[in-house]
Amino acid sequence: MHFKNVTVAGSGVLGYQIAFQTAFHGFKVTVYDINDEILDKAKEKFFELSECYKKDINATQEQLDNTFKNLSYCANLEEAVKDADLVIEAVPENPEIKRDFYEKLSKVAPEKTVFVSNTSTLLPSQFSEFTGRPEKFLALHFANRIWVHNTAEIMGHATTDRKVFDEVVAFAKAVGMLALPIYKEQPGYIINTLLVPYLVSALDLWVNEVAAPHTIDQTWMKTQSSTIGPFGTLDMIGMTTAYNVTMLQADLTKNPLLLKIADKIKTEMIDTGKMGMETGQGFYDYPNPAYQSETFLQ
Ligand code: NAD
Repeated sequence: MHFKNVTVAGSGVLGYQIAFQTAFHGFKVTVYDINDEILDKAKEKFFELSECYKKDINATQEQLDNTFKNLSYCANLEEAVKDADLVIEAVPENPEIKRDFYEKLSKVAPEKTVFVSNTSTLLPSQFSEFTGRPEKFLALHFANRIWVHNTAEIMGHATTDRKVFDEVVAFAKAVGMLALPIYKEQPGYIINTLLVPYLVSALDLWVNEVAAPHTIDQTWMKTQSSTIGPFGTLDMIGMTTAYNVTMLQADLTKNPLLLKIADKIKTEMIDTGKMGMETGQGFYDYPNPAYQSETFLQ
């Protein structure tokens, strides 16, 4: 794998995590965003993040000092990518913004640069023609809280070069990820192809008053030897995302059940302030949710 210099475009929720994780593993990382104020915020967030690295993965001060040395910041796209081997795009999940970004990037990036997108719901083939190098373009999808949820789904489109794909798999491993290669384009990758129908099925049982959320979780956890059930997972994801994804699916599929689910999430959870784990209350109360207690499955 020849990647050394990496540029991460977009320093929002996922971008700053990807930049830090990549720098933590010894790569030179340029963080690019649309202006210096946003980059200043990213710098602040890196200090908070380094505390999580200490707490969650026992990172040493020396490792963190080296990570900061590997990070630089730039609000000029041409400058930010001038020697990049790899650009990781983590700009907002909006097709117009992404398309515009790739059109600009393709004009200023060196020929050698591989582009990867961290998109959650869009497909590489939607943007490949705007990259100026479809064979060097694919998706590299990280998960939120990358330092502990260290998975990377790697997914090309029809004309992605196999060698480039393999290099990105190697890069994913080099930044501490469990690399998950995907052989063809699949909306939602592997994780959401599995997770969304599973969560919708659980919500269906709740909306139709078949059983209570805790009972549904007990059923899943006991029978699947799992440490968490669908409603615990929904609390982790948060109600805003749960609502948005359900509305999006309802729009795509015109399935009335999904509208019913979205409506119940809104009225019973969001409107009553039960937003999930982050706010201390969702289907469970936090920080010590019932499903983690010894008696939950007895
Ligand atoms: P975000 O809105 O938190 O951050 C986007 C960042 O991009 C912001 O800092 C914004 O200033 C910047 N930006 C806007 N336009 C830009 C441009 N033209 N050039 C460079 N930067 C620009 O978004 P996010 O949640 O970090 O999501 C980014 C990508 O990661 C999306 O494709 C999303 O689907 C994907 N993703 C998100 C999550 C998640 O949990 N948030 C998980 C996996 C993947």
